Amino acid sequence: MTNPRILVTNDDGIRAPGISLLAEALGHIGDVWVFAPDREQSAVGHGVSLHRPLRVTTFKDQWCMVDGTPTDCVMLAVRHLLPGPPALVVSGINPGANLGDDVTYSGTVAGAYEGMLLGFPAIAVSDVAYRPKHMETAALVAERVARHVLRHGLPADTMLNVNVPDVPYDRLAGLSITRMGRRHYQDEIIERHDPRGGVYYWIGGAEPGHLAEPGADFEAIEQGRVSLTPLHRNLTHHDAMTVLQHNPPTLG
Ligand code: MN
Repeated sequence: MTNPRILVTNDDGIRAPGISLLAEALGHIGDVWVFAPDREQSAVGHGVSLHRPLRVTTFKDQWCMVDGTPTDCVMLAVRHLLPGPPALVVSGINPGANLGDDVTYSGTVAGAYEGMLLGFPAIAVSDVAYRPKHMETAALVAERVARHVLRHGLPADTMLNVNVPDVPYDRLAGLSITRMGRRHYQDEIIERHDPRGGVYYWIGGAEPGHLAEPGADFEAIEQGRVSLTPLHRNLTHHDAMTVLQHNPPTLG
């Protein structure tokens, strides 16, 4: 088998430590190409830049910097700039967890999600610590999971959301296949005054909590285990469809 082409992106910017560690680890198993934002793009979700030009700059060999979102990066790389289609798309390593409802805000997850939308196996990787001390652990886990996906593939329309405890690799308690949990955000809106008397607002700050649910991604992390959640492209709620089909809104 030829060296599989692996596209790497992130939402923390091309200079973030996490993407270097990830690219280096994946370099052991494939031909790595990096397309990453030129600056912090955390919590941009699956945003795509439709109303302005995008510039791509060579950062170093097979590393390209884009003045856009993680989604822009993956779209430009796959559709136009890579020498051929990737065998795998990997996004990260994010400093900070992407657990439960975080995935809907996460630029890290969106990078992988775009890879999935374009038809490729994709993985998002996060170290659960906001100031990681052992990001090399997440890099090793990413390499292991990527190797597995390259060998065995993934079901269609699936991406993997991987969260890794911030501990030395030999201290990991194992790996759990989990489902997406539920956040309990405490994002109070902070209202302040600027030096000229104008009002401004700041969203968030408080560390978000979560509901304790067996089998959820949060539980694995609490147990010191790697959490691996398969996410599906289709967001339809089938039970709700049945409920609404029995009692649909009327138009007359
Ligand atoms: Mn980030």
